[in-house]
Amino acid sequence: MQTLRASKLGLNPTLLSPAILDILTTLTEAGFEAYIVGGGVRDLLLGLHPKDFDAVTNATPSQIKSVFGKRCRIIGRRFELAHVYSGRDMIEVATFRAPPHRPNTTASGMVTRDNVWGNIEQDFVRRDFTINALYYQPMKGQVLDFCHALTDIRDKKIRFLGQPIQRFEEDPVRMLRVLRFAAKLKFQMDASIRQALTPKLAERLLEVSPHRLYDETQKMFSGGYLTPLLPLMLEHHVWPMLLADVAPVLTAFIQRAAENTDVRIASGKSINPAFFYAVLLWQPFLQRVQQLEGQGLASHDAWTQAGVDVLRRQQRHTAIPRYAEMFIREIWELQPRLIQPKARQIPSLVTLPRFRAAFDFLYLREQVADGQTEGMGQWWHDYQALDNDQREQAIRLFNRQQLRQRRQQPIAVLATSERVVAIDPNATLADLAIQAEATLESRSARRRRVRREKAQANVRETQNARRVAVLATEVEPTDALMTTGMKPNVHTRAPHGSQDSNLPRRRRRPRDLSQVFMGPY
Ligand code: ATP
Ligand code: MG
Repeated sequence: MQTLRASKLGLNPTLLSPAILDILTTLTEAGFEAYIVGGGVRDLLLGLHPKDFDAVTNATPSQIKSVFGKRCRIIGRRFELAHVYSGRDMIEVATFRAPPHRPNTTASGMVTRDNVWGNIEQDFVRRDFTINALYYQPMKGQVLDFCHALTDIRDKKIRFLGQPIQRFEEDPVRMLRVLRFAAKLKFQMDASIRQALTPKLAERLLEVSPHRLYDETQKMFSGGYLTPLLPLMLEHHVWPMLLADVAPVLTAFIQRAAENTDVRIASGKSINPAFFYAVLLWQPFLQRVQQLEGQGLASHDAWTQAGVDVLRRQQRHTAIPRYAEMFIREIWELQPRLIQPKARQIPSLVTLPRFRAAFDFLYLREQVADGQTEGMGQWWHDYQALDNDQREQAIRLFNRQQLRQRRQQPIAVLATSERVVAIDPNATLADLAIQAEATLESRSARRRRVRREKAQANVRETQNARRVAVLATEVEPTDALMTTGMKPNVHTRAPHGSQDSNLPRRRRRPRDLSQVFMGPY
């Protein structure tokens, strides 16, 4: 074990958050040992901004609870630890671990409980990689290195503490962690790690709880290093274990979304990791939509149902929580509405809570030319930059263009934004025209047409009724009708001049009934 002066390594308390200093000081004053460990020390040594600081102590979780009282919450069953609050910040405080007892491992070697307390010498070997096993005591100004961690950091090398296969088997999530650190730090994984990462070993991820895997994917998707991480996930066989329904290829869309996410994070913008799930599952979603439509489901229902189905299947691997599920489904369901908005709904679409995410999604699709967005990504992009008057004008223009397009739409183009209508090779041109019209007609247009037709029918009915009354006075019933006692059914022929008649309307003249032949034909 090496004890090093923190100042010599460029570490000092000013680099730490007030929260971690508060917690370490309180534990030390209560008579316990307390250190910063893991990513916080590693990242400071690399000149990076640590995501968080983790603490470790020889106090057991219940002792930590008695020191911090209400500020402390004990969490975890497999790996019990304390969440301690300092102001609005929360610090994870772990207790030194000793090797787990045998009964707490599964037949495949997975550790189901890792809650055997120990001392610092036992603790460092329980950590995953050497680079994560440095202990920093800021009040003493000391860094403890038990395993040449500093050398590995300097050499940009990821080495396991212990045998890679055994350590992966103990906790398969370490497979995701090692790829994450390799991508984040641009470190080389030791050859023994790369050799251990076989497709067979990757299958062990299926034994891990979907909740834990979701948490881990959240870290993977929100770290700002998706671009280097995704190829590693493919190369080392973990992709199919996490994303069973997503083809193991980096499509242009996934690649673009990954780059975009990284850029956003680098520029300090917020991201929702569920957005990347929406990107990853987009193709399986579209396939499911097509399948359901093929089974005769209406387009709208197919879109809703496909979202539910695809996410339910994904949840068997990574337990996407309900709020994230809603977020993803809303992004998907807003796509056709953004591509073919009704002009009058445009202002309210922008105010939807998911508009921004759905727009970003659409815009990304357009950037990789997925062929379905009809230029609406750019349209919404430009629209958002306009003031209110300009927006109204843009909507009017949009409405006019839409109407014109609808009129000019070539018959052969039967594909709408997402719904591709199969063209029957035997169909006549007239069939195609009807099919095209049916496809292109929006639901509201259809409703408007039905209303208009009903109103016209009503007008016709009244006109007919009036004419019946007139005709009844003009035309005498025939004998045949008179003998059956039936009233003449003047409705059976269209009255002259009505819309159902091709004949021009004639001026009526009072008739001389003495000239009318009253007998049978
Ligand atoms: P970052 O916080 O930047 O993602 P980190 O190294 O701090 O990286 P955490 O998940 O915060 O990672 O864990 C803190 C420390 O706890 C790690 O550095 C490591 O020493 C230890 N640790 C975490 N998870 C495991 C694990 N699955 N197996 C062994 N040790 C682990
Ligand atoms: Mg950490």
